[in-house]
Amino acid sequence: MVTRFAPSPSGRLHSGHALAALIPFREAQQNDGRFLLRIEDIDRERCRAEFEDGIFEDLAWLGLTWEMPVRRQSDHMQDYAAAISTLEERGVIYPCFCSRADIRAEIARSDSAPHVPTMGPDGALYPGTCRNLTMDERDSRIADGDAHALRLDVAKALEAIHSPLTWHDRLAGDVVAKPQAHGDVVLARKDTPTSYHLSVVVDDALQGITLVTRGQDLFEATDIHCLLQALLDLPTPEYFHHDLVRGEDGRRLATRHKARTLEDIRQSGMTPTELFQQLGLD
Ligand code: GLU
Repeated sequence: MVTRFAPSPSGRLHSGHALAALIPFREAQQNDGRFLLRIEDIDRERCRAEFEDGIFEDLAWLGLTWEMPVRRQSDHMQDYAAAISTLEERGVIYPCFCSRADIRAEIARSDSAPHVPTMGPDGALYPGTCRNLTMDERDSRIADGDAHALRLDVAKALEAIHSPLTWHDRLAGDVVAKPQAHGDVVLARKDTPTSYHLSVVVDDALQGITLVTRGQDLFEATDIHCLLQALLDLPTPEYFHHDLVRGEDGRRLATRHKARTLEDIRQSGMTPTELFQQLGLD
């Protein structure tokens, strides 16, 4: 068994992260497996070196140990570029020049078609504006230096693979993937030539991860990951989407809601054992 914890250094860790780190660590320990730590820092605007140091400090306080070297996504952009080339060769991605405002305007314009779903698990679905550009239009806009993202053409992708898409979750059992619910997701962003979906799939395969543990909030994203694995000829690991730690207000803890950090918890004098108890771990 090979497990991993894959935080983004975009803030200090909170107790939700502690649970998300302890689950794969203990799974690996109990099964004579390996536990890896991966730093997901493709978002150069939000990620900072001091937060990465904070991750190491907090995980060490929790008593975790991990294999070295730690994989840092920003050091491996060539791996994501190779995956993009494969998808390009398969003809399942297209450049998208839309800004957020363009997308909003297009959605407002096409409101008149009530039978077409407009919302996906992560918000408004991409209305497909750039999917139908001609090759000439694409080429000339790229030649003009128009910034563009790369999107997955989910309908074409589903045509390109022949096998039914299923994956297994420890709690939910066998899941039939419906990646079309996400619409044509971005695989390479305008500001960075990869995305969460692409990097996580490439890395989990390159690192030989056999059990992906992560919060329930990413359950639906696995449908897209499973499709990418099929397109890139990568194995689909087992998944375990665990419950999220919620604050007193019932909301899931999040860095952007200023959840209490592990650093604060540590400084308040709480011990890791007390924290584990609070998290329902023995
Ligand atoms: N970097 C992602 C996060 O912090 C990890 C998601 C995953 O484990 O796949 O949410």
